[in-house]
Amino acid sequence: MSGNPGGDTLGALFAAQRMAFDAERNPSFAVRRDRLDRLAALVDANEAELVAAIAADFGVRPAQETRLAELFMVTAGIRHARRNLRRWMRSRSVPTPLYLRPGGSRIVRQPRGVAGVISPWNYPVQLALLPIVAALAAGNRVLLKPSELTPKTSALLERIVGSRFAADEFAVVTGGAEVGQAFARLPFDHLFFTGSTRVGREIARAAAENLTPLTLELGGKSPALIHADADVEALAPRLAVGKLLNAGQTCIAPDYVLAPADRVDALIEALASSVAALYPQLGANPDYTSIINDRHYARLAALIDDAEAKGARVVRLNPGNEFLPERARKLAPTLLVDVRDDMAAMREEIFGPILPIDTYTTFDEAIAKINARPRPLALYAFGGDAPSRLRLLQQTIAGGVTFDDTLWHFCNEELPFGGVGASGYGAYHGERGFLAFTHEKAVFMQPRFAPTWLLYPPYRKRFDAVLKILKQLA
Ligand code: NAD
Repeated sequence: MSGNPGGDTLGALFAAQRMAFDAERNPSFAVRRDRLDRLAALVDANEAELVAAIAADFGVRPAQETRLAELFMVTAGIRHARRNLRRWMRSRSVPTPLYLRPGGSRIVRQPRGVAGVISPWNYPVQLALLPIVAALAAGNRVLLKPSELTPKTSALLERIVGSRFAADEFAVVTGGAEVGQAFARLPFDHLFFTGSTRVGREIARAAAENLTPLTLELGGKSPALIHADADVEALAPRLAVGKLLNAGQTCIAPDYVLAPADRVDALIEALASSVAALYPQLGANPDYTSIINDRHYARLAALIDDAEAKGARVVRLNPGNEFLPERARKLAPTLLVDVRDDMAAMREEIFGPILPIDTYTTFDEAIAKINARPRPLALYAFGGDAPSRLRLLQQTIAGGVTFDDTLWHFCNEELPFGGVGASGYGAYHGERGFLAFTHEKAVFMQPRFAPTWLLYPPYRKRFDAVLKILKQLA
């Protein structure tokens, strides 16, 4: 289903999903598992096509990164959901306080209905399909609006989803921002958005019209804090890989470094040798992803120019000293040293292979610098003893944290993934994802003989006496 921002087809599709949901409001375990199996088969059977489509959309995107960061992640998410689905679906009895006895209490987990997912371009399969895993596991019907910046991948998703799912079960709607706007205005029972903070605000406004519950997975500036005792040589490859996977076009990539001033030179040297080992060349290297399009390339080049003009030292890590033509959109990993807060690279999310290195003298100052910015999606810290790690965890607020490495907290389905403050709200992965698309219904069961009548009017002494007892039981 593509290209009709007018909303007729979109509206019809939504109505069909709503009808289908109403006809089956509580899909069984077998139905849900079958949907997950079809999704797994879709990823498996189309691996080569998905890898090729993403590569064509980016220019260069290593097959290995697509297979690991997109396809494997989706498959692992499906496996985890499949293994745990029966338990997640169960309703639970919860304790009932003495003053409500002999009543009983349960939480019933129920699909919300028709869900919408809007996804970005940077991991165009994983960020589209992982929320779908959660939505389908939770028993919803779901519509997906993937990014227009990866048109080949989005068209492929539309085609392969259409071949394995009924349109009233799971369907893909392609198009740009106008389609996204029409999409976000639909009265979904849950809307799940991954993308920029700016568009996230628009989505929140549109969802508010229908009081549609929302998960917002946004971006921001994720710091990498280097403690004074950190082993710079050991951390450099981990920091470099976290930054340069997908050429830095990763929502949880370390955005900037906070390092003690006297470690900066050693850090630059260690990062340079890591980059040389990881990417001996850049231009013809199939392992080094290109920037998604000319606009983003120009945006990143402008971040470097702005920093340089304002006095930053620019260190381009181009191990082969190659000429990198703009049209190939390969941007050399670039360190910005001596940065200041008025530089665009220290204000905006970078989303590319540029790494500013800011400095601190005391740990308190480092914490203050992190807290002076909007709450980040991720926080990384290298080195430090147990008490300082604890202080960092308690004194800063970030979506998620990885110690002594980058990115990995994203990969454990048992950990909730999501932002906080400007980096979004709500979370997914594993059971958190299932719950994002689930209504937890509170159920209280009153037995035939319950003493609640003792609290009925007319209010006299009996009421006061009973309330006095209740207070003691509470
Ligand atoms: P984007 O916000 O420009 O677009 C995301 C999606 O929203 C696309 O499908 C787009 O078509 C749609 N869209 C655009 N304008 C819209 C509107 N007005 N109404 C409705 N939909 C609209 O983001 P992007 O450039 O594709 O992705 C990059 C951003 O996403 C970065 O900020 C990054 O940090 C963030 N991101 C966050 C996560 C996360 O998990 N938290 C993951 C990846 C990317």
